[in-house]
Amino acid sequence: MPHFDYPCPDCRATTSLHDADCQFEGTPWVDVERAYVDIVSVLTGGPCDEETLRREAPGEWGALQQSALSRLKRDDRISEAKSGVLRLLTAEEFREEVSEPTHEPMRTLFTYGSVPGCHDNAVFAMIAWYEMVGLSWPETRENVVNWLRETGTWDRGGFEEATPAELVEKKRHVYEAGYGWKEKATSAKRIIDRYRA
Ligand SMILES: [Zn+2]
Repeated sequence: MPHFDYPCPDCRATTSLHDADCQFEGTPWVDVERAYVDIVSVLTGGPCDEETLRREAPGEWGALQQSALSRLKRDDRISEAKSGVLRLLTAEEFREEVSEPTHEPMRTLFTYGSVPGCHDNAVFAMIAWYEMVGLSWPETRENVVNWLRETGTWDRGGFEEATPAELVEKKRHVYEAGYGWKEKATSAKRIIDRYRA
C-alpha cells in the first residue's frame, strides 16, 4: 500500500485506510496532497492572514483545504499570531517544537514514559512519532533512548533487551516502514493512565 507524506487532515491516515468516521474517506490522495501543497506554497512566499491565503491558494478553497490548514496549525507546522497572521515554521523551529509533543495522547507518553504492559505500543508510538515529524533515524534513536532513561521507563522494567539502545535498535523497522503512531499511542495512554490512577 502506498504511503504519503501528508496525513489525512481529519483522521491522520497516511494510507487509503481512513478511520471509519473520517469525512475524507474516498477522497483521492492527490487532492489531499494538493490541498497541503497549495497552503504551504502560499506561505512559503511569506506570512499572511487566512483571507489572503484562501484568495491566493492556487486551487479552489473548500472543506479539505480548511481541514488541511487546521491540521498544519495543530501539528505546529504553521503558527498563528494573535493578529491572525499565519506563518510557516522553519524546518529548524518545527523540529524544536515537535521534540516535545503538546497534544494527547503523545503528551502523556512523552511526559510520563511507558509502564509495564504497554512498552511495545509506547516505544512503537515514540519511534513512529519522531519519524512522522521528520527526524532522522540517529536523532530518533537518541531521543527514544533518552526518553526511556529520563522518564524512568527503563527502570520500571519489563524489557528483554540489555540496554535501551539495544531495544530501540530492534525497532528500527517501525521507523523504516513509516507506520502511524496514533493507534499505538492511544492504547498505550490508556494503560499509563490506569497505572497512574
Ligand atoms: Zn481520513
